[in-house]
Amino acid sequence: MANVEKSSVADDKENTDEKVLDERPAGDETATEAGARAESVESLPEEKPERAGAGDPKTANKSGKAKPAKKKESKPEKAGASGETPPVRREGRLSRLRFSKKKDMPGGLWLKCESCAGVIFRKELEEKNRVCPACGFHFTVPGRERIQMILDEGTWDERFAELESLDRLKFEDTGPYCDKLERAVSRTGQKDALFSGTGAILDRPIVLAVLDFGFLGGSMGEVVGEKIALSCELAIREKRPLVIFTSSGGARMHEGVLSLMQMAKTCAAVQGLRENGGFSVCVMTHPTTGGVTASFASVTDLVLAEPGALIGFAGPRVIATTLKQELPAGFQRAEFLLEKGMLDMIVPRSELRETLARLFDYRKGPRLAEGESVLSTKKRPSTEG
Ligand SMILES: [Zn+2]
Repeated sequence: MANVEKSSVADDKENTDEKVLDERPAGDETATEAGARAESVESLPEEKPERAGAGDPKTANKSGKAKPAKKKESKPEKAGASGETPPVRREGRLSRLRFSKKKDMPGGLWLKCESCAGVIFRKELEEKNRVCPACGFHFTVPGRERIQMILDEGTWDERFAELESLDRLKFEDTGPYCDKLERAVSRTGQKDALFSGTGAILDRPIVLAVLDFGFLGGSMGEVVGEKIALSCELAIREKRPLVIFTSSGGARMHEGVLSLMQMAKTCAAVQGLRENGGFSVCVMTHPTTGGVTASFASVTDLVLAEPGALIGFAGPRVIATTLKQELPAGFQRAEFLLEKGMLDMIVPRSELRETLARLFDYRKGPRLAEGESVLSTKKRPSTEG
């Protein structure tokens, strides 16, 4: 992995997907270059020097300029146990931080908010479901944690977990894809980036699919596409609404055109669900980009997002360069997209369960008796518009 960095920089400008994929597995917000603001960069505590080379020159400049007020947030690398007081950050590390490899949560006791730059005690952030206590920024949530957060306790039943990706193209960029896969699998203990299964939200049975940014940037390859399609079919069979949570860098470029084909496949699957009387909701979370935004995430019956989520196709820098214009404030953030009609609703994390349950109820009319199917609305006047 040490050699990963240099080559990635070259292609950077061309392809958003690529970057994220480019092995930034442990997703947290900063991992997507797409959204990352330069400021956030320096914040990340705790980084391993191994990714040092990755610095994109532009970022480096920016962060150099930006030179934030805080000096004390970063935390001793391996020193988990050590002090409570965040030590002084060394100079000259700015550019590498953003590209460095991260765990699902930075290892230190402290981290800096990507949005308000405030220093947050990590435990406090976790207690608040990874929402910044100061500004309400919604950090990326690892897949398993999301499932736990959204479903009624003990209702999760994972399906299709045995599907695993193949390196059909024998793809190599900075290293063989199969090696990257292997590392991701052993690190996360899961076979690919999507969790799929059944469960219940406030007693409403659903099919749930959750993209995990921690697995190769939540990128969509054959397995993710297949599991989305299988989830749609499961939702049809079991007559349950389908709820999808996305956080992704886009299509998995290591699988080439096979990953791009998943865009069509997943859209067709969602459409199939619709034609069979099903109901689908996607909740886009920070960050949702590339081929995922451009396919199933945007075509479900309802498209929700968490506040402040970065949602886009190409990264802002690519767009600004192409258009040769300055981008408007708040560009590619959920609030901006809501205003432009791309989203139906922005829902704070704390209200997601209630909101989803309410939406299911609107969809099916009056609350059904036990044993009655969610979709068997024939006897009742439909409430949908
Ligand atoms: Zn904040």
